[in-house]
Amino acid sequence: MNNPFAMGDSCPDTMTVWRAEDGIATAPSGVSTGPFEVQMLLSSRADGEMTAMRAFVPAGVITHWHSHPRGQLLHVLDGAGLVQRHGCEVVELRKGDSVWFAPDEKHWHGATPTSAFSYISIQPVKDGTAAHWMEPVEQEQNQ
Ligand code: MN
Repeated sequence: MNNPFAMGDSCPDTMTVWRAEDGIATAPSGVSTGPFEVQMLLSSRADGEMTAMRAFVPAGVITHWHSHPRGQLLHVLDGAGLVQRHGCEVVELRKGDSVWFAPDEKHWHGATPTSAFSYISIQPVKDGTAAHWMEPVEQEQNQ
């Protein structure tokens, strides 16, 4: 599919294998400070089902502020990332670390200025979506 964030109607109804290189595509513009690659592992618009992706974020690229209606679990595969809950300090994550963003919690995540960042994230669907996108992060908050 052209837009990797375009959700399918539901998760596969049989066992499905994704190979490491399958379906990697550029994330749509307007959600981050620069392009990054994603491999959609699960996409759905069905309430209670999960969406999941593997993301590859170049150094210096971070998402805009956003939230997830049923929360998000993010696990770092490689590199170093930054995460911030709105109103709180920026936290650095490294390979093997995980973070949970609670439902509707405004946050961003991305690579550090000097290291790429790859992760797997899982975010369940509510009311047909798994993410609500907001404004860009102010530059001074990305430090
Ligand atoms: Mn998120």
